[in-house]
Amino acid sequence: MSLLTQYQTAQALELHLGDPLNPENLFSFQHCIELDEQDAYPEDICQLLSDWNVDLYYIPAAYGGKLKSFEEVLAISRVIARRDLTVAIAHGVTYLGATPVWLAGSDEQKQTIAQRIKNKEKISFGLTEKNHGSDILSSETAVEVLENGYLLSGEKWLIGNATLSTALTVFTRTNPKGGPRGFSVFLVEKDKLYPNSFSHLNKIKTHGVRGANIGGVNFQNSFLPANALISTPGSGLEIILKALQVTRTLHAGAAPSLAQADTALRVTLDFVFSRHIYGSTVWDIPHARKTLIEAFVDILLCECVSLAAVRSLHVATDQMSLFSSIIKYFVPTTVEQVIQRISAVLGARYYLREEHWYGIFQKIVRDHSIISVFDGSTAVNLHAIALQIQQLATYHVQTNIAENPGIREKISTIFNLEKPLPDFEPNRLEMYNRGRDDILQGIELAEADLADLPINSEAESQVIDRIMNLTNLLNQLIHIQNKFLVEQGIAYTPKYSKSSQLFDLAKTYCILHTAVACLQMWLHNRKTLDSFFANGEWLVICLTRLLEKIQPSLDSAPESYWENMGNHLVKLYTENKMFSIIPFDLATSSTI
Ligand SMILES: Cc1cc2nc3c(=O)[nH]c(=O)nc-3n(C[C@H](O)[C@H](O)[C@H](O)COP(=O)(O)OP(=O)(O)OC[C@H]3O[C@@H](n4cnc5c(N)ncnc54)[C@H](O)[C@@H]3O)c2cc1C
Repeated sequence: MSLLTQYQTAQALELHLGDPLNPENLFSFQHCIELDEQDAYPEDICQLLSDWNVDLYYIPAAYGGKLKSFEEVLAISRVIARRDLTVAIAHGVTYLGATPVWLAGSDEQKQTIAQRIKNKEKISFGLTEKNHGSDILSSETAVEVLENGYLLSGEKWLIGNATLSTALTVFTRTNPKGGPRGFSVFLVEKDKLYPNSFSHLNKIKTHGVRGANIGGVNFQNSFLPANALISTPGSGLEIILKALQVTRTLHAGAAPSLAQADTALRVTLDFVFSRHIYGSTVWDIPHARKTLIEAFVDILLCECVSLAAVRSLHVATDQMSLFSSIIKYFVPTTVEQVIQRISAVLGARYYLREEHWYGIFQKIVRDHSIISVFDGSTAVNLHAIALQIQQLATYHVQTNIAENPGIREKISTIFNLEKPLPDFEPNRLEMYNRGRDDILQGIELAEADLADLPINSEAESQVIDRIMNLTNLLNQLIHIQNKFLVEQGIAYTPKYSKSSQLFDLAKTYCILHTAVACLQMWLHNRKTLDSFFANGEWLVICLTRLLEKIQPSLDSAPESYWENMGNHLVKLYTENKMFSIIPFDLATSSTI
Protein backbone atom coordinates (compact mmCIF):
# COMPACT_ATOMS: atom_id res chain seq x y z
CA MET A 1 0.00 0.00 0.00
CA SER A 2 1.59 3.28 -1.06
CA LEU A 3 1.68 6.18 1.38
CA LEU A 4 -0.97 8.85 0.77
CA THR A 5 0.55 11.85 -1.05
CA GLN A 6 -0.17 14.31 1.77
CA TYR A 7 2.02 12.24 4.15
CA GLN A 8 5.05 11.96 1.91
CA THR A 9 6.60 15.29 2.95
CA ALA A 10 6.32 14.40 6.64
CA GLN A 11 7.83 11.00 5.93
CA ALA A 12 10.74 12.62 4.08
CA LEU A 13 11.34 15.11 6.90
CA GLU A 14 11.21 12.31 9.45
CA LEU A 15 13.87 10.32 7.63
CA HIS A 16 15.97 13.44 7.12
CA LEU A 17 15.95 14.21 10.85
CA GLY A 18 17.03 10.69 11.71
CA ASP A 19 16.43 8.52 14.74
CA PRO A 20 15.83 10.75 17.79
CA LEU A 21 17.27 7.99 19.98
CA ASN A 22 20.62 8.34 18.26
CA PRO A 23 22.60 11.03 20.13
CA GLU A 24 24.66 11.66 17.01
CA ASN A 25 21.62 13.25 15.37
CA LEU A 26 21.17 16.94 16.08
CA PHE A 27 17.43 16.58 16.71
CA SER A 28 17.87 13.78 19.23
CA PHE A 29 16.15 13.29 22.55
CA GLN A 30 19.51 13.59 24.26
CA HIS A 31 20.21 17.00 22.75
CA CYS A 32 16.69 18.24 23.52
CA ILE A 33 17.09 17.18 27.14
CA GLU A 34 20.50 18.88 27.36
CA LEU A 35 19.03 22.13 26.06
CA ASP A 36 16.08 21.86 28.43
CA GLU A 37 18.37 21.36 31.41
CA GLN A 38 20.07 24.63 30.51
CA ASP A 39 16.84 26.52 29.66
CA ALA A 40 18.55 26.98 26.29
CA TYR A 41 16.78 27.97 23.07
CA PRO A 42 17.00 25.19 20.44
CA GLU A 43 18.51 27.50 17.82
CA ASP A 44 20.58 24.79 16.12
CA ILE A 45 17.58 22.48 15.73
CA CYS A 46 15.38 25.33 14.47
CA GLN A 47 18.10 26.07 11.93
CA LEU A 48 18.08 22.42 10.86
CA LEU A 49 14.32 22.65 10.24
CA SER A 50 14.71 25.93 8.38
CA ASP A 51 17.50 24.50 6.23
CA TRP A 52 15.00 21.86 5.19
CA ASN A 53 12.55 24.69 4.39
CA VAL A 54 9.92 23.79 6.97
CA ASP A 55 9.26 27.57 7.09
CA LEU A 56 7.78 27.39 3.61
CA TYR A 57 4.87 25.43 5.08
CA TYR A 58 3.95 28.58 7.05
CA ILE A 59 3.41 30.50 3.79
CA PRO A 60 0.39 29.89 1.53
CA ALA A 61 1.31 28.65 -1.93
CA ALA A 62 -0.15 31.85 -3.45
CA TYR A 63 2.65 33.80 -1.71
CA GLY A 64 5.48 31.54 -2.75
CA GLY A 65 5.22 29.02 0.07
CA LYS A 66 4.24 25.37 0.20
CA LEU A 67 1.16 25.58 2.41
CA LYS A 68 -1.58 23.94 0.39
CA SER A 69 -2.99 21.27 2.67
CA PHE A 70 -3.48 21.58 6.42
CA GLU A 71 -3.52 17.79 6.60
CA GLU A 72 0.01 17.78 5.21
CA VAL A 73 1.04 20.46 7.73
CA LEU A 74 -0.45 18.41 10.57
CA ALA A 75 1.71 15.45 9.58
CA ILE A 76 4.84 17.62 9.33
CA SER A 77 4.14 19.20 12.72
CA ARG A 78 3.69 15.76 14.28
CA VAL A 79 7.11 14.71 13.03
CA ILE A 80 8.64 17.74 14.76
CA ALA A 81 6.58 17.69 17.97
CA ARG A 82 7.05 13.96 18.57
CA ARG A 83 10.73 14.75 19.16
CA ASP A 84 10.37 17.91 21.18
CA LEU A 85 7.64 20.40 21.99
CA THR A 86 10.07 23.22 22.74
CA VAL A 87 11.32 23.05 19.17
CA ALA A 88 7.79 22.69 17.79
CA ILE A 89 6.73 25.86 19.62
CA ALA A 90 9.93 27.79 18.91
CA HIS A 91 9.66 27.09 15.20
CA GLY A 92 5.88 26.98 14.80
CA VAL A 93 5.06 30.25 16.58
CA THR A 94 5.86 31.99 13.30
CA TYR A 95 2.77 30.48 11.72
CA LEU A 96 0.69 31.69 14.67
CA GLY A 97 2.11 35.20 14.32
CA ALA A 98 1.54 35.28 10.58
CA THR A 99 -2.02 33.93 10.58
CA PRO A 100 -3.80 37.30 11.11
CA VAL A 101 -1.98 38.55 8.01
CA TRP A 102 -2.87 35.49 5.92
CA LEU A 103 -6.49 35.87 6.98
CA ALA A 104 -7.05 39.59 6.69
CA GLY A 105 -3.88 41.38 5.61
CA SER A 106 -3.39 43.48 2.49
CA ASP A 107 -1.48 42.05 -0.44
CA GLU A 108 1.48 44.21 0.58
CA GLN A 109 1.40 42.87 4.16
CA LYS A 110 1.21 39.30 2.88
CA GLN A 111 4.21 39.88 0.61
CA THR A 112 6.11 41.42 3.53
CA ILE A 113 5.43 38.54 5.88
CA ALA A 114 6.12 35.95 3.18
CA GLN A 115 9.50 37.54 2.49
CA ARG A 116 10.38 37.68 6.17
CA ILE A 117 9.52 34.01 6.64
CA LYS A 118 11.51 33.08 3.53
CA ASN A 119 14.43 34.97 5.13
CA LYS A 120 13.99 32.57 8.11
CA GLU A 121 12.88 35.42 10.37
CA LYS A 122 10.57 34.68 13.29
CA ILE A 123 7.12 36.24 13.69
CA SER A 124 5.33 36.48 17.07
CA PHE A 125 1.70 36.66 18.08
CA GLY A 126 1.01 39.46 20.57
CA LEU A 127 -2.34 38.96 22.22
CA THR A 128 -1.87 38.32 25.94
CA GLU A 129 -1.09 40.96 28.56
CA LYS A 130 -0.06 40.43 32.15
CA ASN A 131 -3.40 41.65 33.47
CA HIS A 132 -5.55 40.18 30.71
CA GLY A 133 -5.46 36.62 29.36
CA SER A 134 -8.66 35.08 28.02
CA ASP A 135 -10.68 38.25 28.59
CA ILE A 136 -9.16 39.86 25.53
CA LEU A 137 -11.68 42.69 25.34
CA SER A 138 -10.02 44.09 28.46
CA SER A 139 -6.66 44.43 26.68
CA GLU A 140 -5.02 47.75 27.44
CA THR A 141 -2.39 48.01 24.72
CA ALA A 142 -3.70 50.89 22.62
CA VAL A 143 -2.89 53.28 19.80
CA GLU A 144 -3.21 57.00 19.49
CA VAL A 145 -4.34 57.85 15.97
CA LEU A 146 -2.15 60.34 14.07
CA GLU A 147 -2.68 61.81 10.62
CA ASN A 148 -0.01 59.62 9.06
CA GLY A 149 -0.11 56.58 11.33
CA TYR A 150 -0.39 55.51 14.95
CA LEU A 151 1.46 55.63 18.26
CA LEU A 152 1.38 52.23 19.96
CA SER A 153 1.73 51.91 23.74
CA GLY A 154 1.37 48.98 26.11
CA GLU A 155 2.90 45.65 26.93
CA LYS A 156 2.34 42.18 25.51
CA TRP A 157 3.41 39.46 27.94
CA LEU A 158 4.03 35.69 27.71
CA ILE A 159 4.79 35.98 24.02
CA GLY A 160 6.52 33.15 22.16
CA ASN A 161 9.80 34.26 20.51
CA ALA A 162 9.17 37.77 21.89
CA THR A 163 12.84 38.70 21.85
CA LEU A 164 13.86 36.77 18.74
CA SER A 165 11.10 37.78 16.35
CA THR A 166 11.58 40.57 13.84
CA ALA A 167 7.86 41.25 13.54
CA LEU A 168 4.68 40.52 15.44
CA THR A 169 0.96 40.90 15.06
CA VAL A 170 -0.43 42.92 17.96
CA PHE A 171 -4.01 42.99 19.24
CA THR A 172 -4.63 46.63 20.09
CA ARG A 173 -7.37 48.83 21.47
CA THR A 174 -8.28 51.40 18.82
CA ASN A 175 -11.40 52.76 20.48
CA PRO A 176 -10.87 53.86 24.11
CA LYS A 177 -14.37 52.56 24.92
CA GLY A 178 -13.38 49.07 23.75
CA GLY A 179 -16.16 46.61 22.92
CA PRO A 180 -16.30 44.05 20.09
CA ARG A 181 -15.53 46.73 17.44
CA GLY A 182 -13.04 48.59 19.61
CA PHE A 183 -9.90 46.60 18.74
CA SER A 184 -7.65 46.16 15.71
CA VAL A 185 -4.63 44.09 14.79
CA PHE A 186 -1.37 45.71 13.66
CA LEU A 187 1.59 44.23 11.88
CA VAL A 188 4.51 45.60 13.86
CA GLU A 189 7.90 45.33 12.16
CA LYS A 190 10.48 45.87 14.89
CA ASP A 191 13.21 46.98 12.50
CA LYS A 192 10.97 49.83 11.35
CA LEU A 193 10.32 51.13 14.88
CA TYR A 194 12.40 53.89 16.44
CA PRO A 195 14.87 51.87 18.52
CA ASN A 196 14.08 53.67 21.77
CA SER A 197 10.34 53.29 21.36
CA PHE A 198 10.14 49.63 22.37
CA SER A 199 11.92 47.17 24.62
CA HIS A 200 11.95 43.47 25.35
CA LEU A 201 11.17 41.91 28.71
CA ASN A 202 13.51 39.31 30.12
CA LYS A 203 12.87 35.68 29.22
CA ILE A 204 10.32 34.22 31.64
CA LYS A 205 11.20 30.88 33.22
CA THR A 206 8.60 28.22 32.55
CA HIS A 207 7.66 24.82 34.02
CA GLY A 208 7.93 23.04 30.65
CA VAL A 209 9.29 24.04 27.22
CA ARG A 210 12.05 25.61 29.28
CA GLY A 211 14.18 26.55 26.31
CA ALA A 212 11.39 28.43 24.56
CA ASN A 213 11.83 32.18 24.32
CA ILE A 214 8.77 33.25 26.32
CA GLY A 215 8.96 36.92 27.12
CA GLY A 216 7.27 40.16 26.26
CA VAL A 217 7.46 43.38 24.30
CA ASN A 218 6.84 46.82 25.73
CA PHE A 219 5.82 49.61 23.36
CA GLN A 220 6.32 53.24 24.38
CA ASN A 221 4.68 55.51 21.81
CA SER A 222 6.04 53.35 19.00
CA PHE A 223 5.26 54.99 15.68
CA LEU A 224 3.46 52.70 13.22
CA PRO A 225 2.82 53.77 9.63
CA ALA A 226 -0.81 53.77 8.45
CA ASN A 227 -0.24 50.58 6.45
CA ALA A 228 0.58 48.63 9.64
CA LEU A 229 -3.14 48.28 10.33
CA ILE A 230 -4.44 44.87 9.28
CA SER A 231 -7.80 45.21 7.55
CA THR A 232 -10.10 47.93 8.92
CA PRO A 233 -10.22 49.67 12.31
CA GLY A 234 -12.39 47.67 14.71
CA SER A 235 -11.92 44.32 12.96
CA GLY A 236 -9.37 43.03 15.49
CA LEU A 237 -11.58 40.74 17.55
CA GLU A 238 -12.94 39.00 14.47
CA ILE A 239 -9.46 38.56 12.97
CA ILE A 240 -8.04 37.09 16.18
CA LEU A 241 -10.96 34.74 16.79
CA LYS A 242 -10.75 33.49 13.21
CA ALA A 243 -6.96 33.12 13.36
CA LEU A 244 -7.38 31.02 16.49
CA GLN A 245 -9.74 28.70 14.61
CA VAL A 246 -6.80 27.70 12.43
CA THR A 247 -4.08 27.57 15.07
CA ARG A 248 -6.17 25.82 17.75
CA THR A 249 -6.94 23.08 15.28
CA LEU A 250 -3.40 22.56 14.12
CA HIS A 251 -0.19 23.87 15.70
CA ALA A 252 -1.60 24.48 19.17
CA GLY A 253 -4.03 21.57 19.33
CA ALA A 254 -3.95 18.35 17.34
CA ALA A 255 -0.31 18.30 16.25
CA PRO A 256 1.49 18.68 19.59
CA SER A 257 -0.90 16.42 21.49
CA LEU A 258 -0.95 13.55 18.98
CA ALA A 259 2.82 13.76 18.61
CA GLN A 260 3.67 13.85 22.30
CA ALA A 261 1.27 10.97 23.00
CA ASP A 262 3.08 8.91 20.37
CA THR A 263 6.46 9.38 22.02
CA ALA A 264 5.12 8.88 25.55
CA LEU A 265 3.62 5.55 24.48
CA ARG A 266 6.75 4.53 22.54
CA VAL A 267 9.03 5.26 25.51
CA THR A 268 6.80 3.17 27.74
CA LEU A 269 6.53 0.26 25.30
CA ASP A 270 10.30 0.08 25.11
CA PHE A 271 10.33 -0.27 28.88
CA VAL A 272 7.55 -2.85 29.21
CA PHE A 273 9.07 -5.21 26.64
CA SER A 274 12.53 -5.13 28.15
CA ARG A 275 11.63 -5.01 31.83
CA HIS A 276 11.50 -8.46 33.42
CA ILE A 277 9.40 -8.77 36.51
CA TYR A 278 7.92 -11.82 38.31
CA GLY A 279 9.46 -14.06 35.65
CA SER A 280 8.01 -12.33 32.58
CA THR A 281 7.80 -8.84 31.09
CA VAL A 282 5.67 -5.89 32.18
CA TRP A 283 3.77 -6.27 28.89
CA ASP A 284 2.59 -9.65 30.20
CA ILE A 285 0.84 -7.98 33.14
CA PRO A 286 -2.78 -7.66 31.93
CA HIS A 287 -3.45 -4.33 33.66
CA ALA A 288 -0.29 -2.72 32.30
CA ARG A 289 -0.96 -4.08 28.81
CA LYS A 290 -4.56 -2.86 28.82
CA THR A 291 -3.47 0.60 29.94
CA LEU A 292 -1.11 0.85 26.98
CA ILE A 293 -3.63 -0.47 24.47
CA GLU A 294 -6.16 2.04 25.81
CA ALA A 295 -3.58 4.77 25.20
CA PHE A 296 -3.29 3.58 21.60
CA VAL A 297 -7.10 3.64 21.25
CA ASP A 298 -7.18 7.19 22.59
CA ILE A 299 -4.52 8.28 20.10
CA LEU A 300 -6.53 6.80 17.22
CA LEU A 301 -9.82 8.40 18.21
CA CYS A 302 -8.11 11.75 18.77
CA GLU A 303 -6.49 11.35 15.37
CA CYS A 304 -9.82 10.65 13.64
CA VAL A 305 -11.47 13.77 15.03
CA SER A 306 -8.33 15.83 14.33
CA LEU A 307 -8.05 14.71 10.72
CA ALA A 308 -11.71 15.54 10.19
CA ALA A 309 -11.10 19.02 11.61
CA VAL A 310 -7.97 19.83 9.60
CA ARG A 311 -9.66 18.67 6.41
CA SER A 312 -12.72 20.71 7.40
CA LEU A 313 -10.57 23.83 7.34
CA HIS A 314 -10.71 23.35 3.56
CA VAL A 315 -14.16 21.80 3.20
CA ALA A 316 -16.39 23.10 6.00
CA THR A 317 -14.49 26.32 6.70
CA ASP A 318 -17.60 28.06 8.03
CA GLN A 319 -17.94 25.42 10.79
CA MET A 320 -14.46 25.84 12.26
CA SER A 321 -15.58 28.04 15.16
CA LEU A 322 -16.99 24.84 16.66
CA PHE A 323 -14.56 22.24 15.31
CA SER A 324 -11.45 24.16 16.42
CA SER A 325 -12.76 24.41 19.98
CA ILE A 326 -13.68 20.72 20.03
CA ILE A 327 -10.11 19.83 19.03
CA LYS A 328 -8.51 22.30 21.42
CA TYR A 329 -10.59 20.99 24.34
CA PHE A 330 -10.88 17.29 23.58
CA VAL A 331 -7.51 16.27 22.16
CA PRO A 332 -5.15 17.88 24.72
CA THR A 333 -7.26 16.84 27.72
CA THR A 334 -7.52 13.26 26.43
CA VAL A 335 -3.76 13.13 25.85
CA GLU A 336 -3.10 14.58 29.32
CA GLN A 337 -4.98 11.58 30.73
CA VAL A 338 -3.09 9.21 28.43
CA ILE A 339 0.25 10.57 29.62
CA GLN A 340 -0.82 10.44 33.24
CA ARG A 341 -2.07 6.83 32.99
CA ILE A 342 0.90 5.44 31.13
CA SER A 343 3.32 7.19 33.47
CA ALA A 344 2.05 4.73 36.08
CA VAL A 345 3.24 1.88 33.83
CA LEU A 346 6.62 3.44 33.13
CA GLY A 347 6.96 3.79 36.90
CA ALA A 348 10.07 5.36 38.38
CA ARG A 349 11.60 6.09 34.97
CA TYR A 350 8.88 8.59 34.18
CA TYR A 351 10.30 10.74 36.95
CA LEU A 352 13.94 10.66 35.85
CA ARG A 353 15.67 13.47 34.00
CA GLU A 354 18.15 11.02 32.50
CA GLU A 355 18.65 7.30 31.82
CA HIS A 356 15.67 5.68 30.02
CA TRP A 357 15.33 7.47 26.65
CA TYR A 358 17.42 10.30 28.15
CA GLY A 359 14.54 11.24 30.48
CA ILE A 360 12.28 12.47 27.66
CA PHE A 361 9.09 11.29 29.43
CA GLN A 362 9.33 13.79 32.29
CA LYS A 363 9.89 16.50 29.71
CA ILE A 364 6.73 15.44 27.90
CA VAL A 365 4.78 15.56 31.18
CA ARG A 366 5.91 19.15 31.76
CA ASP A 367 5.85 20.32 28.16
CA HIS A 368 2.49 18.94 27.13
CA SER A 369 0.67 20.59 30.02
CA ILE A 370 0.95 23.95 28.22
CA ILE A 371 -1.26 22.79 25.34
CA SER A 372 -4.48 23.07 27.33
CA VAL A 373 -3.46 26.51 28.60
CA PHE A 374 -2.28 28.63 25.67
CA ASP A 375 -4.00 29.74 22.48
CA GLY A 376 -7.33 29.47 24.32
CA SER A 377 -7.48 27.33 27.44
CA THR A 378 -9.67 24.30 28.07
CA ALA A 379 -12.18 26.54 29.88
CA VAL A 380 -12.27 29.06 27.05
CA ASN A 381 -12.90 26.37 24.46
CA LEU A 382 -15.57 24.61 26.50
CA HIS A 383 -17.22 27.99 26.88
CA ALA A 384 -17.07 28.55 23.12
CA ILE A 385 -18.76 25.16 22.55
CA ALA A 386 -21.30 25.75 25.33
CA LEU A 387 -22.37 29.01 23.69
CA GLN A 388 -23.33 27.12 20.52
CA ILE A 389 -24.82 23.82 21.67
CA GLN A 390 -28.41 24.92 21.97
CA GLN A 391 -28.46 26.36 18.47
CA LEU A 392 -26.76 23.20 17.19
CA ALA A 393 -29.41 21.04 18.85
CA THR A 394 -32.27 23.14 17.52
CA TYR A 395 -30.92 23.06 13.97
CA HIS A 396 -30.34 19.30 14.16
CA VAL A 397 -33.85 18.61 15.44
CA GLN A 398 -35.49 20.82 12.82
CA THR A 399 -33.45 19.79 9.77
CA ASN A 400 -33.25 16.73 7.60
CA ILE A 401 -29.57 17.06 6.81
CA ALA A 402 -29.83 14.56 3.95
CA GLU A 403 -31.73 17.27 2.06
CA ASN A 404 -28.93 19.84 2.40
CA PRO A 405 -27.51 20.31 -1.11
CA GLY A 406 -24.15 18.63 -1.63
CA ILE A 407 -23.99 17.23 1.89
CA ARG A 408 -22.92 13.71 0.91
CA GLU A 409 -20.11 15.02 -1.27
CA LYS A 410 -19.03 17.40 1.49
CA ILE A 411 -18.89 14.69 4.16
CA SER A 412 -17.08 12.42 1.76
CA THR A 413 -14.43 15.10 1.08
CA ILE A 414 -13.95 15.69 4.80
CA PHE A 415 -13.40 12.01 5.52
CA ASN A 416 -12.12 10.28 2.40
CA LEU A 417 -8.38 10.75 2.76
CA GLU A 418 -7.84 9.98 -0.91
CA LYS A 419 -9.94 12.93 -2.03
CA PRO A 420 -7.97 16.06 -2.88
CA LEU A 421 -8.78 19.04 -0.70
CA PRO A 422 -10.01 22.31 -2.17
CA ASP A 423 -7.91 25.41 -1.45
CA PHE A 424 -8.39 26.94 1.98
CA GLU A 425 -10.43 30.14 1.64
CA PRO A 426 -9.96 32.20 4.81
CA ASN A 427 -12.81 34.55 3.95
CA ARG A 428 -15.19 31.62 4.52
CA LEU A 429 -14.34 31.44 8.23
CA GLU A 430 -17.28 32.49 10.40
CA MET A 431 -17.60 33.57 14.03
CA TYR A 432 -20.42 31.07 14.74
CA ASN A 433 -21.64 27.84 13.15
CA ARG A 434 -25.28 28.97 12.97
CA GLY A 435 -26.39 25.56 14.20
CA ARG A 436 -24.38 23.53 11.65
CA ASP A 437 -22.13 20.59 12.48
CA ASP A 438 -21.97 18.45 9.35
CA ILE A 439 -19.88 15.87 11.18
CA LEU A 440 -22.19 15.11 14.11
CA GLN A 441 -25.39 15.89 12.25
CA GLY A 442 -24.32 13.50 9.48
CA ILE A 443 -24.99 10.57 11.83
CA GLU A 444 -28.16 9.55 9.98
CA LEU A 445 -26.25 9.43 6.69
CA ALA A 446 -23.59 7.26 8.30
CA GLU A 447 -26.30 4.97 9.66
CA ALA A 448 -27.78 4.58 6.19
CA ASP A 449 -24.34 3.83 4.70
CA LEU A 450 -23.75 1.21 7.37
CA ALA A 451 -27.02 -0.51 6.58
CA ASP A 452 -25.98 -0.74 2.90
CA LEU A 453 -22.56 -2.29 3.53
CA PRO A 454 -22.04 -5.58 1.71
CA ILE A 455 -21.13 -8.37 4.12
CA ASN A 456 -18.62 -10.91 2.86
CA SER A 457 -17.98 -13.17 5.83
CA GLU A 458 -19.30 -14.25 9.20
CA ALA A 459 -16.45 -12.42 10.98
CA GLU A 460 -17.21 -9.24 9.07
CA SER A 461 -20.89 -9.57 9.87
CA GLN A 462 -20.17 -9.76 13.61
CA VAL A 463 -18.04 -6.61 13.56
CA ILE A 464 -20.56 -4.70 11.46
CA ASP A 465 -23.40 -5.79 13.77
CA ARG A 466 -21.53 -4.37 16.71
CA ILE A 467 -20.77 -1.14 14.85
CA MET A 468 -24.46 -0.83 13.94
CA ASN A 469 -25.57 -1.35 17.54
CA LEU A 470 -23.09 1.21 18.78
CA THR A 471 -24.16 3.63 16.06
CA ASN A 472 -27.80 3.22 17.11
CA LEU A 473 -26.81 4.01 20.66
CA LEU A 474 -24.74 6.97 19.50
CA ASN A 475 -27.71 8.33 17.59
CA GLN A 476 -29.98 7.86 20.62
CA LEU A 477 -27.54 9.69 22.87
CA ILE A 478 -27.35 12.56 20.38
CA HIS A 479 -31.14 12.76 20.35
CA ILE A 480 -31.38 12.68 24.14
CA GLN A 481 -28.89 15.55 24.39
CA ASN A 482 -30.66 17.49 21.61
CA LYS A 483 -34.06 17.00 23.27
CA PHE A 484 -32.73 18.16 26.61
CA LEU A 485 -31.14 21.26 25.11
CA VAL A 486 -34.15 22.18 22.99
CA GLU A 487 -36.78 21.54 25.66
CA GLN A 488 -34.90 23.04 28.52
CA GLY A 489 -34.02 26.21 26.65
CA ILE A 490 -30.83 27.80 27.86
CA ALA A 491 -30.86 31.25 29.33
CA TYR A 492 -27.44 32.35 28.13
CA THR A 493 -26.85 34.75 30.97
CA PRO A 494 -23.14 35.57 31.40
CA LYS A 495 -23.11 33.52 34.61
CA TYR A 496 -24.95 30.44 33.29
CA SER A 497 -22.98 30.36 30.03
CA LYS A 498 -19.90 29.57 32.11
CA SER A 499 -21.68 27.12 34.46
CA SER A 500 -20.46 23.60 35.22
CA GLN A 501 -23.74 22.16 33.92
CA LEU A 502 -23.33 23.77 30.52
CA PHE A 503 -19.65 22.80 30.39
CA ASP A 504 -20.63 19.16 31.10
CA LEU A 505 -23.05 19.27 28.17
CA ALA A 506 -20.27 20.73 26.01
CA LYS A 507 -17.96 17.87 27.06
CA THR A 508 -20.63 15.34 26.12
CA TYR A 509 -21.04 17.09 22.78
CA CYS A 510 -17.32 16.64 22.08
CA ILE A 511 -17.53 12.91 22.84
CA LEU A 512 -20.50 12.47 20.50
CA HIS A 513 -18.85 14.51 17.75
CA THR A 514 -15.65 12.46 18.07
CA ALA A 515 -17.57 9.19 17.92
CA VAL A 516 -19.25 10.19 14.66
CA ALA A 517 -15.87 11.29 13.26
CA CYS A 518 -14.39 7.84 14.01
CA LEU A 519 -17.36 6.13 12.37
CA GLN A 520 -17.21 8.29 9.24
CA MET A 521 -13.44 7.87 9.01
CA TRP A 522 -13.89 4.11 8.90
CA LEU A 523 -16.79 4.20 6.44
CA HIS A 524 -14.85 6.38 3.99
CA ASN A 525 -11.44 4.71 4.14
CA ARG A 526 -12.06 1.03 4.86
CA LYS A 527 -11.36 0.04 1.28
CA THR A 528 -8.10 1.96 1.01
CA LEU A 529 -6.28 1.87 4.35
CA ASP A 530 -4.64 -1.26 5.80
CA SER A 531 -6.38 -4.46 6.90
CA PHE A 532 -6.23 -3.52 10.59
CA PHE A 533 -8.16 -0.34 9.78
CA ALA A 534 -10.52 -2.11 7.39
CA ASN A 535 -11.71 -4.87 9.69
CA GLY A 536 -13.28 -2.35 12.06
CA GLU A 537 -12.53 -3.99 15.40
CA TRP A 538 -10.62 -0.84 16.39
CA LEU A 539 -13.76 1.17 15.66
CA VAL A 540 -15.85 -1.04 17.95
CA ILE A 541 -13.32 -0.39 20.71
CA CYS A 542 -13.15 3.37 20.01
CA LEU A 543 -16.93 3.78 19.96
CA THR A 544 -17.32 1.71 23.12
CA ARG A 545 -14.60 3.67 24.86
CA LEU A 546 -16.23 6.98 23.95
CA LEU A 547 -19.83 6.04 24.65
CA GLU A 548 -19.10 4.38 27.99
CA LYS A 549 -18.06 7.82 29.20
CA ILE A 550 -21.73 8.76 28.82
CA GLN A 551 -23.26 5.34 29.52
CA PRO A 552 -20.91 3.51 31.91
CA SER A 553 -23.01 0.32 31.88
CA LEU A 554 -22.17 -0.32 28.21
CA ASP A 555 -20.83 -3.83 27.46
CA SER A 556 -17.10 -3.93 26.76
CA ALA A 557 -15.77 -4.81 23.33
CA PRO A 558 -14.80 -8.51 23.01
CA GLU A 559 -11.46 -9.47 24.54
CA SER A 560 -10.30 -10.85 21.19
CA TYR A 561 -10.64 -7.36 19.68
CA TRP A 562 -8.46 -5.93 22.45
CA GLU A 563 -5.93 -8.67 21.84
CA ASN A 564 -5.80 -7.90 18.12
CA MET A 565 -5.51 -4.22 18.91
CA GLY A 566 -2.58 -5.02 21.22
CA ASN A 567 -0.93 -7.13 18.52
CA HIS A 568 -1.25 -4.27 16.05
CA LEU A 569 0.26 -1.86 18.55
CA VAL A 570 3.22 -4.20 19.03
CA LYS A 571 3.58 -4.51 15.26
CA LEU A 572 3.68 -0.74 14.77
CA TYR A 573 6.15 -0.39 17.62
CA THR A 574 8.40 -3.18 16.35
CA GLU A 575 8.31 -1.89 12.79
CA ASN A 576 8.92 1.64 14.09
CA LYS A 577 5.84 3.21 12.56
CA MET A 578 3.74 6.13 13.77
CA PHE A 579 0.84 5.11 16.05
CA SER A 580 -1.74 6.23 13.55
CA ILE A 581 -4.38 5.12 11.09
CA ILE A 582 -1.78 6.21 8.50
CA PRO A 583 1.22 4.53 10.11
CA PHE A 584 4.16 5.96 8.19
CA ASP A 585 7.76 4.91 8.81
CA LEU A 586 9.73 6.58 11.54
CA ALA A 587 13.48 7.00 11.24
CA THR A 588 15.68 4.30 12.68
CA SER A 589 19.42 4.46 13.05
CA SER A 590 19.72 2.48 9.84
CA THR A 591 17.71 5.11 7.91
CA ILE A 592 20.15 7.96 8.55
C1 LIG B 1 4.46 28.96 27.46
C2 LIG B 1 3.44 29.97 27.08
C3 LIG B 1 3.44 30.51 25.79
C4 LIG B 1 2.50 31.48 25.43
N1 LIG B 1 2.57 32.04 24.19
C5 LIG B 1 1.75 33.07 23.88
C6 LIG B 1 1.92 33.79 22.67
O1 LIG B 1 2.79 33.47 21.85
N2 LIG B 1 1.11 34.85 22.43
C7 LIG B 1 0.14 35.24 23.31
O2 LIG B 1 -0.55 36.21 23.03
N3 LIG B 1 -0.05 34.58 24.48
C8 LIG B 1 0.74 33.51 24.79
N4 LIG B 1 0.59 32.86 26.00
C9 LIG B 1 -0.45 33.29 26.92
C10 LIG B 1 -1.63 32.31 27.02
O3 LIG B 1 -2.30 32.20 25.79
C11 LIG B 1 -2.55 32.80 28.15
O4 LIG B 1 -1.83 32.60 29.31
C12 LIG B 1 -3.85 32.07 28.16
O5 LIG B 1 -4.68 32.63 27.19
C13 LIG B 1 -4.59 32.05 29.49
O6 LIG B 1 -4.57 33.30 30.11
P1 LIG B 1 -4.34 33.44 31.70
O7 LIG B 1 -3.50 32.32 32.15
O8 LIG B 1 -3.86 34.81 31.92
O9 LIG B 1 -5.70 33.17 32.39
P2 LIG B 1 -7.04 34.04 32.43
O10 LIG B 1 -7.51 34.27 31.07
O11 LIG B 1 -6.88 35.23 33.29
O12 LIG B 1 -8.03 33.03 33.12
C14 LIG B 1 -7.91 32.63 34.49
C15 LIG B 1 -8.83 31.48 34.75
O13 LIG B 1 -10.21 31.88 34.60
C16 LIG B 1 -10.98 30.82 34.07
N5 LIG B 1 -11.58 31.24 32.79
C17 LIG B 1 -11.07 32.12 31.89
N6 LIG B 1 -11.91 32.26 30.84
C18 LIG B 1 -12.97 31.46 31.07
C19 LIG B 1 -14.15 31.16 30.36
N7 LIG B 1 -14.43 31.75 29.18
N8 LIG B 1 -15.02 30.27 30.89
C20 LIG B 1 -14.75 29.69 32.07
N9 LIG B 1 -13.65 29.93 32.80
C21 LIG B 1 -12.76 30.80 32.32
C22 LIG B 1 -10.01 29.65 33.84
O14 LIG B 1 -10.04 28.79 34.94
C23 LIG B 1 -8.67 30.35 33.74
O15 LIG B 1 -7.57 29.53 34.03
C24 LIG B 1 1.52 31.89 26.37
C25 LIG B 1 1.49 31.32 27.65
C26 LIG B 1 2.44 30.40 28.01
C27 LIG B 1 2.41 29.85 29.41
